[in-house]
Amino acid sequence: MKISIIVPCYNEQEALPIFYNEIMAVLSNIDCSYEIVFINDGSCDKTLEVMQELSQNNNNIFYISFSRNFGKEAAMYAGFCNTDGDYVAVMDADMQDPPSLLPQMLDILIPGDYDSVAARREDRKGEPPVRSWFACKFYKVINKISDADIVDGARDFRLMKRDMADAIVQMGEYNRFSKGIFGWIGFNTYWLPYNNVDRVAGKTKWSFWKLFKYAIDGIINFSQALLSIASWFGTGMTFVSFIMLLVIIIRKILLDDPVAGWTSTICVIIFIGGIQLFFMGVMGQYIAVYCQNLYGNKKQASLYYI
Ligand code: UDP
Ligand code: MG
Repeated sequence: MKISIIVPCYNEQEALPIFYNEIMAVLSNIDCSYEIVFINDGSCDKTLEVMQELSQNNNNIFYISFSRNFGKEAAMYAGFCNTDGDYVAVMDADMQDPPSLLPQMLDILIPGDYDSVAARREDRKGEPPVRSWFACKFYKVINKISDADIVDGARDFRLMKRDMADAIVQMGEYNRFSKGIFGWIGFNTYWLPYNNVDRVAGKTKWSFWKLFKYAIDGIINFSQALLSIASWFGTGMTFVSFIMLLVIIIRKILLDDPVAGWTSTICVIIFIGGIQLFFMGVMGQYIAVYCQNLYGNKKQASLYYI
């Protein structure tokens, strides 16, 4: 039995040695072989040097180094593509995903009832209140408008069986939103609650703006609600332009309005705009269905794999 641990790292020179010591202490108490794959996501500090040193001293440590910062999602994907353990874990380097939870996760997975164990923090202690508020609203919105089951408080910290890791690799999406992908591919997940832990060293890499863009990525990837809004808005505008047209005609007939030219021009603009938006929405829906079919086939392929 082999366990693979994927660790995306961006400017983690201080946290990495602490993480390494902790994870080695945990792994030494688990009866299985292991590999740790660090991904250097274009760090500008000495993260790569630390990885190189660790891997020179231990044959089970590997690293992948990106040519620039591609983001945590790309780093995780590279990790998934380059591991072959029977169990695969994704963990942050900053100790916010406590390595001490791993043995408990393995104990839950090994009997075979679950395909993955995911950590879910029960509180958001230490996080700025504005960020928590937006996060909470984001989870409410995305779960209302999308099919993917995205759990509030879920971190990317997971231990999963090979089958699930293979299914994740097969989802070759470019704009990846792992919180959605993990939920979307299905499989049986056990949620392990734990209390939020502060970063051991360094600073969070997520500015508010970066998180906001990440949330929008999630909504676009896992929901067609925005496309429907275009269709509905277009329909509304077309309807309004019809009413305006009626008003113009009635005014012309009853009042012989001398400045009808302006109103009719606006009316035509709104009408054309409405029709355009409506058909853009329709086209969007078709593209969405096409994409769904594409990934639906991939999902079947991954199920076949099991
Ligand atoms: N990370 C990464 N690339 C990035 C941003 C973050 O690989 O562009 C890594 C980072 O080194 C850490 C993990 O992703 O191991 C989580 O990042 P962070 O702790 O900044 O996020 P938070 O825990 O605050 O959500
Ligand atoms: Mg962190």
